[in-house]
Amino acid sequence: MLAVLVLAAVIWLGGAALRIPRPVRAVALGLVWLAVVLAQILLPPEAAVRVATGGRAEPWLVLGGVAALVLAYRAALRWLRSRAAPAAKPEPAGPLSDTELTRYARHIVLREVGGPGQVRLKQARVLVVGAGGLGSPVVLYLAASGVGVIGLIDDDIVETGNLQRQILHADDRIGMPKVRSAQIAVRALNPHVELRPYERRLDEAAARALIADYDLVLDGTDNFDTRYLVNRVCVELGKPLISGAIAQWEGQISLFHPAAGGPCYACVFPVRPAPGLAPSCAEAGVVAPLPGVVGSIMALEAVKWITGAGEGLAGRLMIHDGLYGESRVMAVHRRADCPVCGAHPPG
Ligand SMILES: [Zn+2]
Repeated sequence: MLAVLVLAAVIWLGGAALRIPRPVRAVALGLVWLAVVLAQILLPPEAAVRVATGGRAEPWLVLGGVAALVLAYRAALRWLRSRAAPAAKPEPAGPLSDTELTRYARHIVLREVGGPGQVRLKQARVLVVGAGGLGSPVVLYLAASGVGVIGLIDDDIVETGNLQRQILHADDRIGMPKVRSAQIAVRALNPHVELRPYERRLDEAAARALIADYDLVLDGTDNFDTRYLVNRVCVELGKPLISGAIAQWEGQISLFHPAAGGPCYACVFPVRPAPGLAPSCAEAGVVAPLPGVVGSIMALEAVKWITGAGEGLAGRLMIHDGLYGESRVMAVHRRADCPVCGAHPPG
């Protein structure tokens, strides 16, 4: 009997060491068991093999029965588990998972945000125009804040000269489309939010369909055509627009939302500057942390608007002078003769 058990152990453990699959080894053990049982039944009582294996068939039949019961029990468990699997959802029943509650704990303890504000952030859809200096802190802070869907439109690729201030991108992503680079950065920062990349320039045709799909727009582009276009479409669709701009050491931020009574971008800046009067960052330069300051305030305004916290910058223009460490806030008003929002009274 001992010899058979040793043989069984050698088959099982030796087979495992040789990486023989478990079912093959189980069949081998079954064959050994069958040979022993047949020997007990068919051979005469004095046969050497029968004597060596115990002389009686009953203990072997009991052993086989127990093994069969164990196998049947395991198969039944596996079947039950496979039936239960589709019903088990990875997401919890509540709007925020335990991981998200931990991640956003510093928001949730804020009286002005709390659990409901965090759920609003998760359900929010924010479109960011431009993945450059301002878009970088905007996208990173929206993602870190837990804004559920962040759309990002930009047709540029990452260049060496961007990395001095565009902290969304990295040296090993030079040559990559900026929106793809942003996707990598956002995924690494917060896998609970989704960044939707739009690798193209925002033109008239695309703007309407795209902006209609979002609750709030943040514009950090450096060209005036796009600024006026985004403003016009936001006014038409009644979407709030948080707009930021930077040059050299100075930046400005405001929230434009004529549907809620404030001015639009064109009320405040009715005339686009003559070419050369508003040089781009490439021409005039910009100090690295400035887009960080202005973009972070834009993201802050977005979080406030989504959660309803505090007083937004609608009707006010904030100007930050980094060179002298001064911030000023001035009132800005809607113009009755504004060509963009004048014909669309707030409804
Ligand atoms: Zn206007």
